[in-house]
Amino acid sequence: MRHVLFALSLAAVVSGAPSAQTPGAQQPQPPSPTGYQDTPMQPNGKWHIHDGTRPQPRVVKPGPFVAEAPPADAIVLLGGGTDLGQWQMTEGGGPVTWPIAAGVLSSGKGFIRTRRDDFTDYQLHVEFATPAEVKGNSQGRGNSGVFLNGVFEIQVLDSYDNITYPDGQASAMYGQFPPLVNASRPPGEWQSYDIMFTAPRFNGTTLAKPAVVTVLHNGVLVHNARPFWGPTAHKQIPPYEPSNAKGPIGLQDHGNPVRFRNIWIRPLAGDEDAAAKSAAPEIIGSRVFDWTTFTATPNKTGAVRRVVQAPTATLDELEIHITTLNPGETPHAPHQHPDEELLVVKEGTVESLVNGELKRVGPGSIIFQAANQLHAIRNVGSVPATYHVIKWNSPGMLRIANR
Ligand code: MG
Repeated sequence: MRHVLFALSLAAVVSGAPSAQTPGAQQPQPPSPTGYQDTPMQPNGKWHIHDGTRPQPRVVKPGPFVAEAPPADAIVLLGGGTDLGQWQMTEGGGPVTWPIAAGVLSSGKGFIRTRRDDFTDYQLHVEFATPAEVKGNSQGRGNSGVFLNGVFEIQVLDSYDNITYPDGQASAMYGQFPPLVNASRPPGEWQSYDIMFTAPRFNGTTLAKPAVVTVLHNGVLVHNARPFWGPTAHKQIPPYEPSNAKGPIGLQDHGNPVRFRNIWIRPLAGDEDAAAKSAAPEIIGSRVFDWTTFTATPNKTGAVRRVVQAPTATLDELEIHITTLNPGETPHAPHQHPDEELLVVKEGTVESLVNGELKRVGPGSIIFQAANQLHAIRNVGSVPATYHVIKWNSPGMLRIANR
């Protein structure tokens, strides 16, 4: 988590936040980019990450601001005074150095996060205001962010008459989904996010359910139970990690003086039950794994779609994933393991090390790798190759392998 946050703060510095951090500077800042075409495609293959050509969300003027005082069972993270006892600096864990007065916290140097770092499922209310004086453009204007479980960002930005890439505008699931509509208020005015978040669930180290979020921006629905493809990053979508299952609430420093007030959270009752349930995987019954429901997670050599990893009535574990290899790529050096596996080629041409020989095969072919045989695979074609991997551990094997 810290890794991702640190990477983001670096991105913030590299991307050239405007003059907020150097008020004395008279030099005009170069304009911030409003989109990218050289970034990876998003997992559904429709747009690049931060694609500036993606349609801009329709502008919807919200109704008048409605104050939402914390309900009786909420944990008040930022109340009316100057108490920052619920917060710490993200790097180093020291006391928060952002200025606070009369319940209004102004972003300063460095990310901050709640001291509590085991939130899972919750309702979160945040009020914020971007600077009344407009400076900069695109991502350089009123940029901050609310980080759920420390790693999933709901973007804070001045998106009132400010073009940027749609997956980076105010209330976007940054780098992944633009809001359904643009419900931003003008610069300097108080705005609200009401965020309903369900943490991702894991079976061991395998993602069982992605993080899901519903967001109201100024009372207007902008994400309706939408899953994150992975943790937030600039120009990429990293894969899920089991540590994403819980975390703190974080606020981003992007070099722009954004104000915050009235932040409260209601952890949802029963989330511990749900977490405990997901920790004990159920036996797989008869079912269909529908291709259209799989999420492709990009990686260094292509992408992977995790399908299932759980016991069956006769196996300690059945594991299915689908690998896409870009031309010339191999997922690993030759290796061997006690469990057996079947590879079913869907698209492209691969060369596989089987029984000491290299075999070149195409769509519809099946490769069986026996226990403890050295094996490898490479895409030797000119287009991406995709194959299903079906592996299993017979009764007792998992205990022996201790994996
Ligand atoms: Mg941000």
